[in-house]
Amino acid sequence: MIYKWYLSKGFAIFIFRKWSSISSVTISLDLCLWDNRLFYKVRYNGYTIPYFFLTNISMTGSRLRLKNNSKIAIIGGGPAGSFFANDAIQNAKKLGINIQITIFNNKDFSQRGPIGCNMSAAVIAGSLHAKLTRDGIILPESIIRQEIRGYYFHTEEYGIELYKPDQINKTSIMAVYRGNGPLYSTHTESHSFDDFLLKHVINQGVSVISEPVLDLNLSSNLDTTATVIYGKGGQHNKMEADLVVGAFGINSTIINKIRGLNFGYIPPKTIKTCQMEIPLDATFIKNSFKDNIQVFALGIKPFRFASMVPKGNYVTVSLVGTRDLTSNDLIDFVNHPVVRKKLPHDWKMPEKFCMCLPKIVLSHAKNPFTDRLVMVGDASITRIFKNGLESAYITSQLAARAAFENGISKEAFDKHYYKPAHKLLAMDNKLGAVILAISDFITRQNWLVKARLSYVEDKRGSWIANHLNKILWNMVTGDAPYHKILIQAFDPVFQVILIPVTIKALIKDILERIARRCGLKK
Ligand SMILES: Cc1cc2nc3c(=O)[nH]c(=O)nc-3n(C[C@H](O)[C@H](O)[C@H](O)COP(=O)(O)OP(=O)(O)OC[C@H]3O[C@@H](n4cnc5c(N)ncnc54)[C@H](O)[C@@H]3O)c2cc1C
Repeated sequence: MIYKWYLSKGFAIFIFRKWSSISSVTISLDLCLWDNRLFYKVRYNGYTIPYFFLTNISMTGSRLRLKNNSKIAIIGGGPAGSFFANDAIQNAKKLGINIQITIFNNKDFSQRGPIGCNMSAAVIAGSLHAKLTRDGIILPESIIRQEIRGYYFHTEEYGIELYKPDQINKTSIMAVYRGNGPLYSTHTESHSFDDFLLKHVINQGVSVISEPVLDLNLSSNLDTTATVIYGKGGQHNKMEADLVVGAFGINSTIINKIRGLNFGYIPPKTIKTCQMEIPLDATFIKNSFKDNIQVFALGIKPFRFASMVPKGNYVTVSLVGTRDLTSNDLIDFVNHPVVRKKLPHDWKMPEKFCMCLPKIVLSHAKNPFTDRLVMVGDASITRIFKNGLESAYITSQLAARAAFENGISKEAFDKHYYKPAHKLLAMDNKLGAVILAISDFITRQNWLVKARLSYVEDKRGSWIANHLNKILWNMVTGDAPYHKILIQAFDPVFQVILIPVTIKALIKDILERIARRCGLKK
């Protein structure tokens, strides 16, 4: 009892000391327990090496487990919430237990425009599409806005069509809407991917409460369940839950409440992006885009990524910058000559259009778990600038498996959810940051980009062309982790073959600059 009281108050308790003395050398070892963690300290001839973390000592693991009739409350009915619910149902079935799952969602996916949409470009990567199909989550025709053939990569002066590398799985890339389509659109049936996923789990017995979660109480007594406080219009209702899952993304105010619980949760860093839906004639889009997503690396500030995704009679423009973007950046982008080439020659910015400024993740969350609470999707760890939907799938799957197989204590989530997710996604993001910095630098060197891309275009079908295509494909789609892209980019054969091309282009660029300075060339 005393031990438990000490631990719950956060006191360290000293449990062991052993010392030995051989001739003039005296060594002693102290073991100490604090916050369910074992630390050690070594003293050597009077010098003290400070306490070091040794291991977690689980005092709660066996008590905090999901049992028959346990309740799970999921905050957020976006992809991460629905994926977690779906995995929880499968895991409960495997264990032969009955679980009551409730999803709280404050977005009405039947609404058009940002109000009913979890704002994104909404491209479902081939790899995620394959996983959904394997899980029996088959996208109906009404949800698919466009099957994507590939990508067209634009730079300031040059463009190249990327083709699916051989070893990439052949499942199609799909463009969808997260909500019920753009503001002012006039279709009749539901177009929402998020709504489709939510209905998929409702059909398996999950309850949905369409009200926002306002607060969450976690008791210091681990035997007491968590309390979810929810409601709208000034009403405050309560629900007790054995496990609470935070699938609320990064655009929600509940983040501050969770942070305020002081168990160490630090949400991901974010930046504001800009999105727009451009209505255009469907035949024009078909001819101009040829079912390809257009990716722009124009080498101009503040844009880091820009894409135009064809979706039937709309094109979704998505812009990510090196700072928070505004609607003025959107205007600059659509007026750029390379972008204008993809639009009708007499196109003008419509007076009323659907646009939004959603946040995108720049880093992963710290400590997205504690006893009886775990965060998934964007609120936890996601691959930066890549396949957020697939990261939501991965984190939800890992967290659900950990909860059912290993328990709902913070030790179980740390070991069986956070560490594997961190290894898979967060570590890779660090390399991603390096690759993105290199790629930002390269795309600003027009002479280099032009020389390399035109060389590859000339050698289409050769090993070098296929290799560069693979690197660019993996960069824009996220089909491969960043560490693989780095290995591919620094392939010695690839680099050596490109040396003469680079030197030739550099000399040409220098001569052109000199000629311009001397007034011999404009
Ligand atoms: C510009 C842009 C383009 C992107 N393009 C792509 C892309 O093409 N492909 C891709 O894979 N990923 C893309 N992403 C990333 C992707 O959108 C996210 O990774 C994904 O939406 C994360 O899912 P989630 O369920 O964690 O969060 P969200 O999708 O944000 O869902 C959170 C849900 O929780 C609900 N919620 C929040 N707070 C509460 C509360 N207090 N009570 C009740 N409900 C609450 C919200 O209403 C929402 O429904 C893009 C992101 C941006 C910003």
